[in-house]
Amino acid sequence: MIEPELWGALRFLGDPQCHVCGFPLPDDPGAGGVCGACAGHKPAFDSARAALAYDDHARKLVLDLKRGGRRDGLALFSGWMAAASGESLSKADFLAPAPMHWTRLAVRSFNQAAWLAQALAQTAGKPWRAGALTRVKRRRSQEGLSASERRRNVGGAIRASGNVRGKIVLVVDDVFTTGATLEACARALRKAGAAEVHAVTLARVVRPIDISI
Ligand SMILES: [Zn+2]
Repeated sequence: MIEPELWGALRFLGDPQCHVCGFPLPDDPGAGGVCGACAGHKPAFDSARAALAYDDHARKLVLDLKRGGRRDGLALFSGWMAAASGESLSKADFLAPAPMHWTRLAVRSFNQAAWLAQALAQTAGKPWRAGALTRVKRRRSQEGLSASERRRNVGGAIRASGNVRGKIVLVVDDVFTTGATLEACARALRKAGAAEVHAVTLARVVRPIDISI
């Protein structure tokens, strides 16, 4: 289980926060307050929330989960994520784990986002769909693409499948880093006709330098 020292050191996120992406704000912005990033560019998801700030302590929990073996924290994590997601969880029609990058799926047989989604679904008494979001490897030629286009092409795209039309979907992932993965998930779900797309993660990067996973 989680050591008491670690428990005490974890930083739980909550209000005041950006009502879109959940970024901690210094002052209560009131209903509808958004952070600078969301004011400049509205994300494809309706909201994103995280239970913990992604620091060295939260990183330990995430790595224990990622490296296999440690599923003993899942019941606890799902309780935290249920509290963080609140209304977006209670109104969700189903939960969908963010798909793992295909290069990683090739060497690992599990997806920690799926474990979190399953545990959260159990906690909330909601259905979850393991295959609602998948990574598709693009087979388009790299010829004539810029460096960043190549990276995207190689990285593959996210596709939504199954009956999504008119549904409220809660996407579940382990860490919100730049939000790019959750944006891609939300775009795919919206394209497939989802009415609302929300997201919840175990942890969230709250400082720009905190991106090592
Ligand atoms: Zn924001």
